[in-house]
Amino acid sequence: MEQTVIFPSGSVQYFHSVQLEELLENYKGRDIIFLTDSNIAALYPQFFAGKKTVVILPGETNKNLNTIDDVGRQMLQYEATRNTLLLGIGGGMVTDITGLAAATYMRGIAAAFVPTTLLGMADAAIGGKNGVNSGVYKNMIGTIRQPEFIAYDIRFLKTLPDDEWSNGFAEIIKYACLFDTELFETLSAKNINWFKTHSDDLQSVINTCVYWKNKTVAEDEHESGMRKLLNFGHTAAHAIENLYGLPHGKAVSIGMVIAATLSEQLTGFGADDTLRLKKLLMQYNLPISYPIDSKKAVDILKMDKKRNNNTISYILLNNIGIATIKALPFDILEKAIETCALQYSREQ
Ligand code: ADP
Ligand code: ZN
Repeated sequence: MEQTVIFPSGSVQYFHSVQLEELLENYKGRDIIFLTDSNIAALYPQFFAGKKTVVILPGETNKNLNTIDDVGRQMLQYEATRNTLLLGIGGGMVTDITGLAAATYMRGIAAAFVPTTLLGMADAAIGGKNGVNSGVYKNMIGTIRQPEFIAYDIRFLKTLPDDEWSNGFAEIIKYACLFDTELFETLSAKNINWFKTHSDDLQSVINTCVYWKNKTVAEDEHESGMRKLLNFGHTAAHAIENLYGLPHGKAVSIGMVIAATLSEQLTGFGADDTLRLKKLLMQYNLPISYPIDSKKAVDILKMDKKRNNNTISYILLNNIGIATIKALPFDILEKAIETCALQYSREQ
């Protein structure tokens, strides 16, 4: 299924269910440079043999401007012009690097993405944000710029490690909490093994997330309003990622539990709904608590761009499927993080 999604800065072609080799047939006349990481290059050599390919090293520590510089040099060696398409095949890290390298090479050439992780398919590849880290600060340098197309070939998920499946489901559960009780029910009734063996159901869950993300980003590409909601679970998550180096999905999972606990106090979100959320996260092998140093976490969050004197704007839930933004005092946030750490010590 093909679809064009229109954003203020440009439109994106979506190929919701393709076989990559067939898609590439249609792009034969185009000068394409492939960008991927060494894991994908080793697992799927058939897509890169005999093609102009730039291979980067995987991992968050390589998501920086040095890698963008390396990519640019290799593109020059391949004699890339303004008409070249940079096609990123990989997880969120690869599509971020692809987006930023394409945005800056010769002041901007076309990019396209084939996400190969569940997290990339359901979230990271969509919406045009691309960025690299500056030291411990995540995604601090980047642009908002839409790719020419995004293509989904879910056969790539056959080789995805179990941990990465869980990380992807953290973002999928985020969309359910923010917008979609039906998705929440669907996820509650199933588990990772179900989705590994029922590709139609998996494709449909991914399409639902693509729909919600595109709808949100189309209304607010530059994150002045609605798009902020997509940060649900992400504020505390960034502190946890910075302090403890946890993978993004796991940190978001813990962050969503903290946000649910805060919602109980500030919006009247039901304690039973927090329990439903925790149960769902555990069902997808995600953590619901962590021994976080609440003081250190709050110190990090005080540097967050969402800060406002003694409060930070925080995404909370009214109900499952309905979100809201509130100014949250730092002392209340610190207590909620402490509760999460206490919960962890009780579970041990
Ligand atoms: P994310 O999409 O979670 O941001 P990354 O781009 O950091 O992920 O990728 C996570 C890890 O999974 C990397 O080591 C990457 O090489 C690997 N990976 C990505 N896609 C696949 C796949 N389809 N099969 C196996 N490993 C993959
Ligand atoms: Zn995220």
